[in-house]
Amino acid sequence: MDLLNTLVDKGLRRELPTREEALALLATSDDELLDVVAAAGKVRRHWFGRRVKLNYLVNLKSGLCPEDCSYCSQRLGSTTGILKYTWLKPDEASRAAAAGLAGGAKRVCLVASGRGPTDRDVDRVAGTIKAIKEQNEGVEVCACLGLLSDGQAERLREAGADAYNHNLNTSEATYGDITTTHTYADRVDTVQKAHAAGLSACSGLIAGMGESDEDLVDVVYSLRELDPDSVPVNFLIPVEGTPLAKEWHLTPQRCLRILAMVRFVCPDVEVRIAGGREVHLRTMQPLALHLANSIFLGDYLTTEGQAGKADLEMIADAGFEVEGTDHVTLPEHRAGGGCHEGAGACGSAPEAPQVSHQVGPQVGPQVGPQVGPQVNEARTDLVAVRRRGAGTDLAPNA
Ligand code: SF4
Repeated sequence: MDLLNTLVDKGLRRELPTREEALALLATSDDELLDVVAAAGKVRRHWFGRRVKLNYLVNLKSGLCPEDCSYCSQRLGSTTGILKYTWLKPDEASRAAAAGLAGGAKRVCLVASGRGPTDRDVDRVAGTIKAIKEQNEGVEVCACLGLLSDGQAERLREAGADAYNHNLNTSEATYGDITTTHTYADRVDTVQKAHAAGLSACSGLIAGMGESDEDLVDVVYSLRELDPDSVPVNFLIPVEGTPLAKEWHLTPQRCLRILAMVRFVCPDVEVRIAGGREVHLRTMQPLALHLANSIFLGDYLTTEGQAGKADLEMIADAGFEVEGTDHVTLPEHRAGGGCHEGAGACGSAPEAPQVSHQVGPQVGPQVGPQVGPQVNEARTDLVAVRRRGAGTDLAPNA
């Protein structure tokens, strides 16, 4: 297939595909899916071998956000029944982080709900970063606290943060449909602030909110322009009680094509499968490891993932290996620039949650009624609200 040969050649040279090529990839048929995975897999292995980086989320502050991001279970007016709590103490956060690191994670992503941190919040998170770094040698810490004001990225960097996450989430053209309390430009500004402060920038997207293929290509090209070190790809988890609870548009095949497109557009960047991995890829998760080189271990911010042990078994069974702390994630030409690798999920939350849009035209075939979600039907059987780990008395999943 000429398209795939062209995309592989460009990916190996770090050359940007044309928009037409990216759109053509998203439009490939299910008959071509394994060819698509094999082609993008060549690019993935060229830059990242068979390594899988594990990241661990610690939700420092959950729920009660004044913003209205429609995909998010922590948004203003959410009736999701998620855990709600204010800032974890440094030792509580450090205990949660230690569980993820013991499970094989090399990066901890510290996330807090809210529009953005106050200076006092930054001090608080600085104390938490210090506690985690003191107790876990070699750990990478990414902060995800929402929109940053001037000077805050620098203060986080001084406190020891390695990275900062803030997702663009969707295209500029549709951003106003999913959030009204801040703008796409606000989000771009925060990613740029993180970059400028010497933090490794992490910024990604959420697929499955009713966006078109053009929107998906737009946001991924915008990300390439921003040049983050890591790109988390969230697949919307339509959490009951959010505006998008019935927006089930993704199939495993569609998710794989999206991941392949991201890999070709951002070939040498850490592409991370974030929220929605288990819910939307389901038994096809191992194939996605041929496209992404990074995943979250265990649970998400407000929803539960599969058992951490199952994550590790899947990686081994698929012939991949967990990346150790002795290995630099990014290829040499990216790793040396003061920024390191990519990071977690943000105030945009990997469990991505909801927004109300129309159904995308290229949704793909629906799967059987017991497994594959049907559009406009809530699937509480596939989504479990997190009830363990940070903010509870129960042990974390790691
Ligand atoms: S994504 Fe972040 S800013 Fe938006 S509602 Fe959720 S926690 Fe608040």
